[in-house]
Formats: sequence, C-alpha cells, structure tokens
Amino acid sequence: MQNSLESLCIVGGGTAGWMAATLLSTALRGSNIKITVVESPDIETIGVGESTVPSIMDFVQACQINLKEFIQATSASFKLGIRFDDWRTSEAGESYFHPFGKVGKDINGFDFYQAWLKSLANGQETRWVDYSANAIMAEHERFMLPPHQPQNWVLSSYAHALHLDAVLVARYLRDLCHKRGVTRVEATVKKVNLNNKSFVSSLELDNGTTITNDFFIDCTGFTGLLIEKTLKVGFEDWSHYLPCNRAVTVQTEQVSNPVPYTIATAQEAGWSWKIPLQHRTGNGYVFSSQFCSDEKAMDTLVNSVHGKMLTQPRIIPFITGKRKKIWHNNCLALGLSSGFLEPLESTAIHLVYKTLVHFIKHFPDSDFDADSEQIFNQKINTDYEEIRDFIILHYCTSARDDTAFWRWCQTMPVPVSLNEKIRLFKNRGQIEHIPGQFFTSDSWYSILEGMKIRPQKYHPLVDGFHRQNLANTLSENIKDIRTAVLKMPNHYNYIQANCPTQIKAIS
Ligand SMILES: Cc1cc2nc3c(=O)[nH]c(=O)nc-3n(C[C@H](O)[C@H](O)[C@H](O)COP(=O)(O)OP(=O)(O)OC[C@H]3O[C@@H](n4cnc5c(N)ncnc54)[C@H](O)[C@@H]3O)c2cc1C
Repeated sequence: MQNSLESLCIVGGGTAGWMAATLLSTALRGSNIKITVVESPDIETIGVGESTVPSIMDFVQACQINLKEFIQATSASFKLGIRFDDWRTSEAGESYFHPFGKVGKDINGFDFYQAWLKSLANGQETRWVDYSANAIMAEHERFMLPPHQPQNWVLSSYAHALHLDAVLVARYLRDLCHKRGVTRVEATVKKVNLNNKSFVSSLELDNGTTITNDFFIDCTGFTGLLIEKTLKVGFEDWSHYLPCNRAVTVQTEQVSNPVPYTIATAQEAGWSWKIPLQHRTGNGYVFSSQFCSDEKAMDTLVNSVHGKMLTQPRIIPFITGKRKKIWHNNCLALGLSSGFLEPLESTAIHLVYKTLVHFIKHFPDSDFDADSEQIFNQKINTDYEEIRDFIILHYCTSARDDTAFWRWCQTMPVPVSLNEKIRLFKNRGQIEHIPGQFFTSDSWYSILEGMKIRPQKYHPLVDGFHRQNLANTLSENIKDIRTAVLKMPNHYNYIQANCPTQIKAIS
C-alpha cells in the first residue's frame, strides 16, 4: 500500500499559482488531496504575461474549461504567430512571420522544407510562409477555430494560441477553483519553516496562523520565497547569453481591431511588443540596462505606442536564468520563481503548463523518491535550454550593427548546443527535432528564413523528385491554403460573433 500525500499548498496567486490550482484540482480529482492557495493581499502579481503559445489550448482543455467563457472573461483575442519587424537589418520596414502550426505538406516522407529548397534550386521562387495556413490567415486577418473533423489538410495544419489579460486570467481561474473546492487563504507568508531533513514543514502567516502541508508549490514570483530564500537551491544565470534585463510596460486604448498575432519590433537596445486584446493593447519594451537607461526606454516605448495610455509606464527588472533545481524535496518552483527567459517567444506560461505536466507525471508519494525528482529536473532543464537557444537564435543571426547593443550581438556568446544546431543546419539544411521539444523544425526554419539564412545544401534524395510534379504539388499547396483561408471570417468579426468580451478598458 502506497502512502499518498494528503495536502498540497500553493503559495502565490498570480498566473502560475492559479494555473497550478486549476490543473491540479482537475488532475487530482478523486485523490482526496486537499489543495490550498495562499495569496497575499499586499504583494501585487506581476500583471504581465499576455501572449501565449498553442499549449494554452491544451491547458484549457485539460482543465475542462469552457473556451468561449474563458475568452470572454479574459478579453482574449486569437494568436496565429509572431510578426518580427526590423530584426534582420536596421532598415525599417523589413519583417518576417513566425507562424504556429505546420508549414507545407511533407512529400514522400521528406520534410517539406527540403522539397521547398529543391523547388528554389529549380527556379520556383516562392516564400516559405506561402505554405503556412497560419501565416496566410495572419496576412489576411482571418480566423476561425479549426473544425472537429477537418475536410482538408489545410484545416488540420493550423494552430492557434491566445492573447489574454493576465490579471483577468488569475481572477477567472481563482473563481473556477473556488467552485472546484480549492481552499483560498488571503495572507502573506512571513516565515517558512524546515524540518531536520530540509523539507518545508510549515508556513507562518501574517494573520497569526500556521499552515502545515505535505507538499508546497512556490508561485511567489521572482522572490522565490520557498525555493530560493529558504531552500537556497541556487540560480543558473544566463545573462551572458541574453543581456536584456529590464522591461517597461504600458497599456493603451485600442485604435484598430485586434490583429491575430503579436508584433515584436527590434529596437535600439532590445525589442518592443504589441499584444492586441479585445478591449486594449498591451505594450512593452524589453531592453538591456547595459545599453539603455530606464528614461530612454520609457521614451522609446511611449513614442512608439498608438492610442491613449491607460496606465503609467512601469519598469520591471528581471534576471535571465533558472533555478538549479526546480523541484527540491517537497517543494516545486513554478512560474517566475522557477526562472525567467525574456518573453520574445511568449513561452513563460507554456513553461508553467509544461512544468505541471511533468510534475503530474512524476507526482510524489510520501516517500519522495529521489529518482522522480531527478528525472523531473532533467526534463524541465532540457525544456528551458531548448527555449533559451531558440530565443538566442533571433539575436545571433541578426545582421544589425547600427547600435552598441546590436554590435554586441554580432559577436555574442552562443551555447554549444545552439552553435551545433546552426552548423548542421548551414551544412545540411536540417534541424533535428527531438520528440517532446516545443519548437518544431518548422519554427526553426521560419526564424532562419526570416533572417535570410539558407543552408548550403538540401537533402540529396530530393534530387529524385520529378521537377514538374514538384512544381505542381507546391502550386497546389499554395492554392489550397489561399482557397481555405479566404473562406474564413475576419478575425475581429469572428470574435464579435462568437466570444465578445464585456470587459471595458479603464483609464
Ligand atoms: C516583462 C514581462 C513580460 C512577460 N510577457 C509574457 C508573455 O507575453 N507570455 C508569457 O507566457 N509570459 C510572459 N511573462 C511571464 C509571466 O508574466 C509569468 O510567467 C506569469 O505571469 C506567472 O507569474 P507568477 O504567477 O509566477 O508570478 P506573480 O504574478 O509575480 O505572482 C506572485 C504571487 O505570489 C504572491 N506572493 C509573493 N510573496 C508572497 C508571500 N510572502 N506570501 C503570500 N503570497 C506571496 C503574490 O501576492 C502574487 O499573488 C512576462 C514576464 C515579464 C516580466
């Protein structure tokens, strides 16, 4: 007979805390494990984190959340990918798109990218994104949820995520958890007590009570109250790879209908984002303090936004990296307390979900066997490193040399793992995708192609493709995508007809 845990306490009521409570209350249903969330009325949540990746849809489904209700409650719009402006050169006006979903239809078992390279060599000049339903939907601002039983390959090839209001997400999930029997304690943790094995034994709260639980999830944000301040697991600093360490953020009124993609524009000392929600736009400038002052960054952001500002610009400092151990003894770090990578590819909420998925898979019993903890930590480290490398790719491939920041990028340190990936790509035109990794080969090809980096060779066996057949297949692909996309409704009209929010922007 195994000794199951009886209680689990989540400390922190930001996006991470409430995502944990929602997913765990669903996954542990029937287990008799009591879930408590402690959230401080005095310490604010970070209040940003509004652009997501398609795994948010898995989270919504896994938690049995009604999608329409969720979109309406969080004022969400749909996201098909990210448009990167001015990343390759400093000449304003150049942009490329990183679409979610599949690009092209594989031919005779070969990665579509190889077939496309062969078609270029044959003189058939088409864009890589011409074969992405997501990219063409974004160009035409079209959207509809994919049908349950897609009639053609185009309708099964696209993927989507959401742009969300972070504060509303936490509020929605909190209400849902209340209905699902999660206990909420409104108090600030003043002291974390450890037992003689360095396991967290109890939390002392500022209301005079003490909470004793079997397992603790640290969702206290950058502070890492349990995992770092108390358990001192250590931090792996990646600032030498990714020097941006601050962001300035501001919310503005909508001046046009929300587009179904995030915009990331390269700036003098970093990059800025635009995230269109139904009722307002989220804006931010991620920059490096080594190359830009807070005042300069604020000016840059304020001068680049459209629409009336609804909030005062706010500076958020951060350090890039991750905890050396994300699960230690009876404590799991989740969200910002586990680490942070700049939001260029909107991956933090995804990492919260992925951490929870790994944790549920290796869920402990009261023996707390060290192997589960170790396997879990290995898996999540790999996830972090994969995303870190993918983000660095955007900087180290840029040809910009117009400012000190971009000149630094020209000779920036690159992890061995990424160097090897780029080397193999340049030599052989291939990106090895390991199952379980989040970014597909298509994602890597999209960034590399956006930065105009092409390999020296394509796969030798695609030379066997019949020239005219290949040309015809590719032309049909493009036609199929355009035909399907142009039948879809406009993104804004689709939202208005199916899931309009009642939330109003407040200035
Ligand atoms: C500039 C920036 C932009 C971002 N953009 C994106 C994005 O586009 N997409 C994305 O996926 N992610 C993004 N993120 C990350 C995202 O914001 C976070 O991953 C997400 O919000 C989770 O935050 P959190 O819940 O871990 O922390 P927080 O929101 O900081 O919540 C911490 C919680 O802990 C509580 N707390 C703290 N101390 C105590 C205590 N002693 N006692 C009790 N409670 C306590 C607080 O009250 C609060 O409820 C961004 C982050 C930054 C910094």
